[in-house]
Amino acid sequence: MRLTTLIYFFSCLLFTVNTFAREVVNVYTSRHYAVDKEIYEMFTKETGVIVREISAKDQILLERLKNEGATSPADVLILADAARLWRATRRGLFRKYENDEIDRRIPKSLRSRGNWVGLTLRARIIVFDKRKFTKEDFSTYSDLGKPIFKNEFCSRSVTHPYMLSLLSSLILNLGENKATNLSKNLVMNQARKPQGGDTDQIRAVGAGECGVALTNSYYLIRLMRSSKPRDIESVKNVGFVFPNQKTSGTHINVTGAGILKNAPNLTNANLFLEFLTEPETQKLFASGNNEWPAIQGLATSNKILNKLSKFEKDKLDVEAIGSKQFTAQRIADQVGWQ
Ligand code: FE
Repeated sequence: MRLTTLIYFFSCLLFTVNTFAREVVNVYTSRHYAVDKEIYEMFTKETGVIVREISAKDQILLERLKNEGATSPADVLILADAARLWRATRRGLFRKYENDEIDRRIPKSLRSRGNWVGLTLRARIIVFDKRKFTKEDFSTYSDLGKPIFKNEFCSRSVTHPYMLSLLSSLILNLGENKATNLSKNLVMNQARKPQGGDTDQIRAVGAGECGVALTNSYYLIRLMRSSKPRDIESVKNVGFVFPNQKTSGTHINVTGAGILKNAPNLTNANLFLEFLTEPETQKLFASGNNEWPAIQGLATSNKILNKLSKFEKDKLDVEAIGSKQFTAQRIADQVGWQ
């Protein structure tokens, strides 16, 4: 056998052995952004650990984890919104991460006593038709229940985690009675039956079908940064308000990640979770979806995001918000909010 052939075979063998011997971390995520691949590559470069990702909607991931049970290959689960993270916690899917560095970086209210850690922040804001209303018409979420907004209020279905979390925060801040009354008023003020997603609410406001609506901040920022004529047209007449600036602060929520109970690659999972909370990773991970990093005051390269970062945030514990979702659903059922 010629020497070059021998070298070729030897290098192939080395590559194969190397591929199989490489360390991995298996990530189940409900995110679907191009920037995530970039982050995984950065992680591999830094640690040598390969990230294998399964990206799907949260219900599909939870169903998959249920079916896989103890033999699941998943190490880390990433979900958006406290309501969903709390459901996963309640199912006993997470194991406690033991990492003081993570706890030093991320504020206490944005993580769950060791089960999961919040990585990005989003705010639930009010959008309004500038042709009909001004910023002065709103200062709180409760203002949306006022009679001047009769036949003006739009939202997605209240059964969606984003709405359940907002209603949960209102229950925690105002008490059940006031939250119920407000829900009743919001139903009375509806311009139409709850439908669509958050972007649909913004477009409906822009089109004059709704006077006021609720949306997560990143949907609006995405449209504001878009160069598509349809998006520019959509936001042309849309104003926005960060509610409750003089009271409890605007409702905020997180995208969070936790290590799974049956994680087969526990060390790598811990490394990965720590990597996701590093400032440089945080900047990319958050701004990739027009969200703010969970690390307080960390600026990103996203100019609109930075400009809008200085608002009073509700200090409620995000996990406590998640845990109130069944009370929120009961109140919604009671007042006929769909
Ligand atoms: Fe979303």
